Amino acid sequence: MKPILFRGANVWDGSGAPTFPGDVLVEGSRIKTIARSPGGLTADGATIIEAHGRTLMPGLVEGHAHISFGGAVNDSDLGNIPPEEHVLLTMRNAKTLLDHGFTSAYSAATSKLRLDVVIRNEINGGRLPGPRMRAASPEITVTGGLGDERKAHMYYESFGMIADGKEEITKAIRLCCREGVDNIKVNISGDDLSPAAHGGLTVMSEEEVQTAVRVARDFGKKVNCHARAAAAVKRAVRCGVDVIYHCESADEEAIDMLESAKDRIFVGPAIGIIYGTLYEGEAFGFHRDSELGRTMQRVIDTTAAVYTELRKRGVRILIGGDYGFAQTPQGDNARDLKHFVDLLGFSPNEALQCGTRIGGQVMGLGDELGQIKEGYLADLLLVDGDPLEDLDLVVHEKNLHVIMKEGSLYKDISAAKIVEHTVAAD
Ligand SMILES: [Zn+2]
Repeated sequence: MKPILFRGANVWDGSGAPTFPGDVLVEGSRIKTIARSPGGLTADGATIIEAHGRTLMPGLVEGHAHISFGGAVNDSDLGNIPPEEHVLLTMRNAKTLLDHGFTSAYSAATSKLRLDVVIRNEINGGRLPGPRMRAASPEITVTGGLGDERKAHMYYESFGMIADGKEEITKAIRLCCREGVDNIKVNISGDDLSPAAHGGLTVMSEEEVQTAVRVARDFGKKVNCHARAAAAVKRAVRCGVDVIYHCESADEEAIDMLESAKDRIFVGPAIGIIYGTLYEGEAFGFHRDSELGRTMQRVIDTTAAVYTELRKRGVRILIGGDYGFAQTPQGDNARDLKHFVDLLGFSPNEALQCGTRIGGQVMGLGDELGQIKEGYLADLLLVDGDPLEDLDLVVHEKNLHVIMKEGSLYKDISAAKIVEHTVAAD
């Protein structure tokens, strides 16, 4: 593969530093050289991409991916999709994410056991387009928890994998590990969109969460959890969960605990689904002027307060807003960046770091993803405009002129105009 030289770009490198004019040379799968004087870099036989002042930034990382979710209004809709259609839907979603600049996806949960796994394997094998993925288990949940849609008189599939007590939890997690997942998901609290257990309830016992983490560790897997209630957040931290989602009802003690664990944990508010349900859910039966609407408004307010504190205390925060429901279509995932600014008080630079540098860390590849740094994996976007001025730019495919994943050009709108130069190395 020839080296690729981005020449004359405005480089936003993901570190939080201001954008600078420069050239970036990619060799093989990695960033080889960065020059802080545009036009100053040459490379023998390189393909040149004239960036003309467009912004070169790291590829986005979806920190709460559900690539097997598509258009569901109710959680139970996911259980209704037959496996064959579900594989195809997941395959299409993987492409949609990459088309929208997401070169990595950390899966929060899948909706059938092997969906994430099979699509991850196909992407890794080069047979399907999609982001680099960490595949997740289904949402392991207790009877009555989020993801248990059964009725007493009727078996019913949803997206959950129901397991109660140490033995069943152990077996469920071993099964997921055997089938090849990278991340285990457990639902510790309920949810306001769940019939039996609302978000204020903590329904998975301490012993069950401890068991889940211990078994996942035996297999070398990470653990994600759904935790809205303060008690659920504390339980997650005590038991050693790696990625703690939601957390909007965290009290002072829970926030202190998250801070004390900040070197090993990540958190993610998943604000997109709350925003979508409140402001864009009318067509799907979610009315603003309803009990649910008032609950969603409360969740936005408490999320803003909690995440302002977590941000100040340096807890690592991921973007990813439960995209894949009717009110949060796949492909809109980067809207979370603007939600972080508009709803949660982040600066555009801070929000973008959540979607690049911090996301890169959760992918578990060590310090080699999510920034434009020499030696890092070359996941790059060339954006028409300045995302720091307008975060909406990165939401729309048309503004992503180049998408590079691990040194390979997935998209280059100027490909027809690329001139191959051989220039003398100096
Ligand atoms: Zn989720």
